[in-house]
Amino acid sequence: MTKLYKNYIDGAFTPDATEVVDVFNPATGALLAKIPNSDEATVAQAVAAARRAQPAWGKLAPIERANYLRKISAKVRERRTELAKIIVAEQGKIQQLAQVEVDFTADYIDYMAEWARRLEGEVLTSDRANENIFLFRKPIGVVAGILPWNFPFFLIARKLAPALVTGNTIVIKPSEETPINAFEFAKLVAETDLPKGVFNLVGGVGRSTGEALCSNPNVDLITFTGSVATGSRIMQTAGRNLTRVNLELGGKAPAIVLADANLDLAAKAIYDSRVINTGQVCNCAERVYVERGAHEALVDRLAAHFKATRYGDPSVRDDLHMGPLVNQIGLDKVSALVEQAKRDGATIITGGKRANLEQGFHYEPTLIVDARADMDIMRKEIFGPVLPIQVVDGLDEAIALSNDSEYGLTSSIFTSNINSAIHAARELRFGETYINREHFEAMQGFHAGRRKSGIGGADGKHGLYEFTETHVVYLQTP
Ligand code: NAD
Repeated sequence: MTKLYKNYIDGAFTPDATEVVDVFNPATGALLAKIPNSDEATVAQAVAAARRAQPAWGKLAPIERANYLRKISAKVRERRTELAKIIVAEQGKIQQLAQVEVDFTADYIDYMAEWARRLEGEVLTSDRANENIFLFRKPIGVVAGILPWNFPFFLIARKLAPALVTGNTIVIKPSEETPINAFEFAKLVAETDLPKGVFNLVGGVGRSTGEALCSNPNVDLITFTGSVATGSRIMQTAGRNLTRVNLELGGKAPAIVLADANLDLAAKAIYDSRVINTGQVCNCAERVYVERGAHEALVDRLAAHFKATRYGDPSVRDDLHMGPLVNQIGLDKVSALVEQAKRDGATIITGGKRANLEQGFHYEPTLIVDARADMDIMRKEIFGPVLPIQVVDGLDEAIALSNDSEYGLTSSIFTSNINSAIHAARELRFGETYINREHFEAMQGFHAGRRKSGIGGADGKHGLYEFTETHVVYLQTP
């Protein structure tokens, strides 16, 4: 019998759902489990539970809230191997990366818990001699966290930990593609003494469960990670109640490689960007602008890496660089973009088609040269193991092409010239720029996109404060 998970609402697992969603392994097509496809009434129950729990939770000393978070991270560590296996099976990432995701999630929860003793307001000067002005940072209330499938477990922590430590309560809706890890996370939470209603989990598809959550007038903040199209839709839904939104959306990150760069380092960092999580990472390099003098040497190095890539079913092999794409839609999208690039005159150096494996949504690691700025492959998010390269005649051209994008999440430059690096850092209009290293953010940084890559951000102090609102108090003494 296939396992059927239950929603977690108000500190309890709910009775079996009548409507369900099937969850499959993308490497084999095997049915893994079923989750509830929650209706509007169920979502409303979860939001109401979060609303009831919030006042008492918000009044606890922050350090007490942090102590609950640490109990959750300890539970995650206890079950780290099992959780990683679940992520491998339902999402298709390789075992090593799934383990990194689980461990990083526990560390992230602890990191956010550390902020409990560092949450600060401000004391402002007044125009009146006998007055003090205090700025408090207070919880917003009930948070809805809507998650994507690409780092499904970590994204729970990225929403939950800053929300809870600042005194909010939360309702999480995982992606219907990869929900099992979230339901297992709920079991861990249930083993702690976290007050009921502080954390709630509802399963379901975006157009019904997700919409119900975003249109619920009792939700005070929607924090969403996913595609631009869904982000835009959520903003429209949220607009009806003027609910706040925090949106982490797609990317089309440029990597600029100058002729004076360490090309071994550049090739490895950019290659890693395209195979990590099978290229399904919002912040990873998706297009390269290489200075003419370094083009051939960079392509040679990249081609060697691409050709040596091992891929397959990550549940049965532990020596892989990458697994399958998450689903048929992802595979069709990647295939269509590469076919279009061929028609547009780009040249395939490695790969260029669906992988010849018996089952699963595998695509060959694909290196493309002769790309031009007007091609879709240089403009649209690929989200697969495909790298297009365009030749440029200098840094300013590379910067102009990089900035000419509807996305603005991350960017990178490889050069041994500090002046070029600083010039690029000044001129690139992106939320993040990596200099001589791979694209991957730190938890103490601030992960935020410009343009259609999002509104607001996550991580570090600035990400934490997105879960608070200010309250200014004027105290006049006679
Ligand atoms: P998606 O937009 O298809 O789905 C994300 C979530 O939104 C899912 O839980 C889905 O059920 C829900 N959803 C769908 N329609 C909805 C609606 N109308 N109302 C409410 N919820 C709805 O995204 P995805 O395919 O899961 O994730 C891949 C995308 O996420 C890529 O574009 C990637 O770049 C982006 N991403 C961004 C970041 C970041 O930090 N900026 C991180 C990871 C992924």
